[in-house]
Amino acid sequence: MAVVPTGSGYRRQLYRDDAVVLRVQKLGESDRIITLLTRRHGRLRAVARGVRRTTSRFGARLEPFGHIDLQLAGSPEGVGSSLHSVSQVEAVALYGKQFLGDYPRYTAASAIAETAERLTPVEREPSLRLFQLTLGALKALAAGEHAGGLVLDAYLLRAMSTAGWAPAIAECAVCGTPGRHAAFSVPAGGAVCPDCRPPGAAHPAPATLALMSALTDGDWRVADAAEPPVRRECSGLVAAHLQWHMERALRSLPLVDRRESS
Ligand SMILES: [Zn+2]
Repeated sequence: MAVVPTGSGYRRQLYRDDAVVLRVQKLGESDRIITLLTRRHGRLRAVARGVRRTTSRFGARLEPFGHIDLQLAGSPEGVGSSLHSVSQVEAVALYGKQFLGDYPRYTAASAIAETAERLTPVEREPSLRLFQLTLGALKALAAGEHAGGLVLDAYLLRAMSTAGWAPAIAECAVCGTPGRHAAFSVPAGGAVCPDCRPPGAAHPAPATLALMSALTDGDWRVADAAEPPVRRECSGLVAAHLQWHMERALRSLPLVDRRESS
């Protein structure tokens, strides 16, 4: 790791990592602040200088949803300046380009990026599992082999499990009795048995809980075969479960366009 002396009295280090670009904001005349989910350093924000000039070499590589390899300047431990700066960027796969003319996939990617940011409230706290899930979901969305809505719901279910919020599906959320139970209660934590079922619990179609289970386990044969009403009911329960655990509602989730794009 190279150590670069700076004029401000502390030393900044150069370090490399690969990352998914979650969000891009304008800063001043020509700079951007990039929110990144990195493989080894967790979520962090970095300033990219001069990238909005037309002569910028790497501005186009710092668009949302891209997988990039980059060099950052700043302390990886977070000592010193809180805002790191981007000094080099190589594109690994710029998935964002593939979502530009495709509103359903663009909105699903936006919900994935917002969820990843919200599930990493503390900067520089590594979460390799969430990084892999986020990258895998964007890659699957770009590949177009599965409906965007299914890719999003599979991501949300698995991302919730990294936070310890995964809904119970194969056992009762309250007493743990194994089995596929018919009722589902968001406040109780998922599927509930007849003894534990609270008032107001939903009674989804059995196929809906089967889809939720398939998305959690990555059983795409079952998931791809699910009928549209089953997909809708499943995404409604997944969204309700996610929102219950988040302090603030996700902005992007109600905007997701679940018409099939491929
Ligand atoms: Zn029970």
